[in-house]
Amino acid sequence: MSQYDYDMITIGAGSGGVRASRLAGGYGFRSAVVEQDRVGGTCVLRGCIPKKLMIYAAHYHEYFEDAKNYGWDVSGVTLDMARLIDNKNTELDRLNGIYLNILKNNNVDLLQGRGTIVDAHTVEVAGKQYTTENILIAVGGWPAMPDLPGIEHAISSNEALEIKSLPKRMTVVGGGYIAVEFAGIYAGLSSEVTEIIRADKLLRGFDEDVRDFVGAEMTKKGVNILSGVTVNSIEKNGDSLILHIEGHSSPTIETDVLMYATGRAPNTKELGLEGVGVKLTRKGAIEVDEWNRTSVANIYAVGDVTDRIQLTPVAIQEGSAVAETLFNKNPITVDYGNVPTAVFSQPPIGTIGLTEAQAREKHGAIDVYTSDFKPLVHTLSGRDERIFMKLIVDRASDLVVGCHMVGMDAAEIIQGIGIAFKAGATKADFDRTTGIHPSSAEEFVTMRTPRAEAGG
Ligand code: NDP
Repeated sequence: MSQYDYDMITIGAGSGGVRASRLAGGYGFRSAVVEQDRVGGTCVLRGCIPKKLMIYAAHYHEYFEDAKNYGWDVSGVTLDMARLIDNKNTELDRLNGIYLNILKNNNVDLLQGRGTIVDAHTVEVAGKQYTTENILIAVGGWPAMPDLPGIEHAISSNEALEIKSLPKRMTVVGGGYIAVEFAGIYAGLSSEVTEIIRADKLLRGFDEDVRDFVGAEMTKKGVNILSGVTVNSIEKNGDSLILHIEGHSSPTIETDVLMYATGRAPNTKELGLEGVGVKLTRKGAIEVDEWNRTSVANIYAVGDVTDRIQLTPVAIQEGSAVAETLFNKNPITVDYGNVPTAVFSQPPIGTIGLTEAQAREKHGAIDVYTSDFKPLVHTLSGRDERIFMKLIVDRASDLVVGCHMVGMDAAEIIQGIGIAFKAGATKADFDRTTGIHPSSAEEFVTMRTPRAEAGG
């Protein structure tokens, strides 16, 4: 038994923090988690889960339209946005309850309030000090808004999940994960959506073909994408907002709701980090080594606050790694290679491995296989929606080094392919896998002819 009140105090009860603290408690160590809000963190309360529920809601619009050619007459369909938001929030309450139970069942003390680090072994919460052998910082990130006149009129994704009356016009600024996902949600719910991006294409960092394809499909679904456009200021005009912009034929755009999704910043302010000597990166994130250890030996950090890969499953793996290493004599680190990811745009993107440009740079000679087709469901529905798939193969080793998909079920399909990736599948392995017919996924095992221009 150490001289401290706890073996580990975790600050932040999001995905990474809950995983680490409950494993520590479960292994019989004295574990506490500090939370100033409800338990659950970004993913459960303001991110992945509510967002995905909203995406399901948005899809119904197309389902009703597509039903007609399948023989169904669906008339008089309306959206009760308030009911959607209320039901979504009820589900979040349920999840919050599950998280609370997980903590309780693993003997983790929940210290409610804002946690600040007093010294390397002391955390203060709501005016009370607790001592601890180890500290884990898992406080996540928060939407970052650029500093421009009128920005106070813009909302972030946090508020966009709570709008109870559907805006007629919605403008989203940004071209990353969150911006494209919310543009899709509101377009699906039937707002007129404009997405303003400063670059020439959406989703910097993704494969160029993916960027082109998803941009074209989103446009078909009614999202008005304005590329190469900058917002200089925002002005309120009655119930509307006027955006003064640059790079477009018109100097202004009018909208009802303006959402900014221009990145997220790590929550490192006012935590007491400077006082205790925890080093930050240039972008203000907590610097950690492969063991998630900060510059102070007994202080660890996981998840978005470390700005490595901002994905829930990665934060959970990092939280597990800390707990396993400290409390289960099982030192493990996280493998950041080939992390599959999905963007729940409409249509969604699933991707793992290298982009074509990265693969050319790393491997030189590559073969690229692509397929672009209308899924079976839309032969009857009549909807003009296509699927894009791409495999990138290192010619020397035959290893599949990149796999990308845009289209329905992309996340579900790429998750499976992720296992093949981790197992080191070659193109020959893909080729000798029997397709499941009829499915879209079978295309990944039937692409036989590399794209002509592929070389190296
Ligand atoms: P991203 O970093 O993905 O995207 C930020 C976007 O904002 C980019 O398009 C960027 O443009 C643009 N931008 C940045 N600053 C400005 C500015 N001042 N004016 C105009 N545009 C600007 O951030 P997100 O907020 O979308 O998401 C944060 C992270 O959360 C993601 O990286 C992802 O890891 C995670 N996430 C994952 C999800 C999933 O797994 N499905 C869903 C949602 C979030 P440019 O490209 O020109 O720099």
